[in-house]
Amino acid sequence: MHCPYCHNDDSRVVDSRTAEDGAAIRRRRQCPECSRRFTTTETATLQVQKRSGVLEPFSRAKVAAGVRKACQGRPVSEDDLALLAQTVEDAVRAVGNPELPAHEVGMAILGPLRKLDEVAYLRFASVYRGFESLEDFEAEVALLRIERESNADLISSAEVEISITSTAHDSSDHASQARSASRQPNN
Ligand SMILES: [Zn+2]
Repeated sequence: MHCPYCHNDDSRVVDSRTAEDGAAIRRRRQCPECSRRFTTTETATLQVQKRSGVLEPFSRAKVAAGVRKACQGRPVSEDDLALLAQTVEDAVRAVGNPELPAHEVGMAILGPLRKLDEVAYLRFASVYRGFESLEDFEAEVALLRIERESNADLISSAEVEISITSTAHDSSDHASQARSASRQPNN
């Protein structure tokens, strides 16, 4: 690794540490010629194959840029986009292939984006999954509804459980009040 200051051909590693949860190694280097120090970051390469066949390095910035377009006018922050891009990178790295087709990156975006914003998800999915007709949109919206309703079921069953518990409390209070008031023998 040549020195970025004096372009000497050699540099010496003075410190190495893992970064980004082990996904990268940072090395502190020193130039033996000018003695200046600089840092390099080493990550496993993850190449994305575009439809044209051209390989390019995976880029969280590109993921965020693609999603940002679909999020225009939606309540999605830059932090949301950065977090989503990180989630996508983790997912595609977990697959373990050093190269993957661009459309698989698109597919990995769909799940987290659906959780983030359903409208942006539909816009994005219409491109990546090649929606060709109104029926494609309708089918996807129907799926989203089913999922939302099953989530609502979970929430309402949790509410029922809470209200049952509180009812149980009420009735036991009533029962104890009744017991102490009338000393019913049937308990
Ligand atoms: Zn130097």
